[in-house]
Amino acid sequence: MFKKGTSLYSILTGNCPKCQEESMYTFKNPYNLNNTLKINERCSKCNTKYRLEPSFFYGAMYVSYAVGIAFAVAASVITYFLFEASLETTFIAIVVTLIVFMPIIMRLSRNI
Ligand SMILES: [Zn+2]
Repeated sequence: MFKKGTSLYSILTGNCPKCQEESMYTFKNPYNLNNTLKINERCSKCNTKYRLEPSFFYGAMYVSYAVGIAFAVAASVITYFLFEASLETTFIAIVVTLIVFMPIIMRLSRNI
């Protein structure tokens, strides 16, 4: 399912969308918070330009809304139905999930 050569592989790993040989990001760890979104100019293997035009990644803001909703729904289903927690606890779980996974959500949105 997550084989090399599929778009899903690029989205989940953050690798070059063309050759998938190296990461698009300067630092692989998304929790390196000062450099979460620092992206290389070009792929060193196939020379693909990552930033096609200025403000190329503005669209990722809209995608991050959808990705954030997906994480929030997952968190609420897990806490409310699996752990049968109260609404307040579920709300806290959603907020904590969104904060903890924020770097991953930001990167996923850019990759998409
Ligand atoms: Zn490449």
